Amino acid sequence: MRKPLIAGNWKMHKMLAEARTLVTGVLDKLDESADVDVLMCPPVQLLFPMAKAVANTKIMLGAQNVHEEASGAYTGEVSVAMLKDTGCSHVLVGHSERRHVFGETGDRLAKKVRAVVQGGLTAVYCIGETLEDREAGRTTAVIDQQIDEVLASDVSADQLIVAYEPVWAIGTGKTASPEQAQEVHAHIRARLASVYDAATAEKLRILYGGSVKPGNATSLMAQPDIDGALVGGACLVAEDFTAIISAALTAV
Ligand code: PEP
Repeated sequence: MRKPLIAGNWKMHKMLAEARTLVTGVLDKLDESADVDVLMCPPVQLLFPMAKAVANTKIMLGAQNVHEEASGAYTGEVSVAMLKDTGCSHVLVGHSERRHVFGETGDRLAKKVRAVVQGGLTAVYCIGETLEDREAGRTTAVIDQQIDEVLASDVSADQLIVAYEPVWAIGTGKTASPEQAQEVHAHIRARLASVYDAATAEKLRILYGGSVKPGNATSLMAQPDIDGALVGGACLVAEDFTAIISAALTAV
């Protein structure tokens, strides 16, 4: 049985005071003993204060991006060790905005995933097709390529979470139907079985992301291969994020 994970990607939102209000609002409603993992990925300037805000709670902290090198002349970048120093346990790698707005390639993402895992953190590796890919019938081919160019047996499955985020559903209010999402998640799990093995693939958590809201979270997470959610917009509102966390518990 895979424990569900609800992850919030704050993107480039929240100032310090707002972030404190959000975390307090989530903690107020969070059942510490509930069988669900919770991850928050604030922007980098908030990592240190948020680590303090979530200390001794079940909320884990993640970064939204990282540089693949350990140190050096990389102006504006942050290394895995620096993230670890803030109290992070997870890092998003390959979010569609990193791929499509910042031009990150599979080659680069393969280095980032390895840096994260070798540095002792967990990579949340994001994959997903564009609308153009889907309409051209290329969804599974794109997914396979995104898996094959980055994941291999040298990436410890114990430090890996996969997030399926169809690009056309991110921030658009359009969600994949539970059946559409399940079909791709089952495909991803089968592909992960060929990278690792069937038993390992069964244990790997595959999150769905793309306009997850309190109203659609239960039906998405009720699907057998959907093990939680990567939430953008709705994670910025404490009531919505906690409602999605509750949905993960009722969906099982
Ligand atoms: C995301 O940023 O990963 C995301 C899924 O955003 P949203 O929930 O707003 O679509």
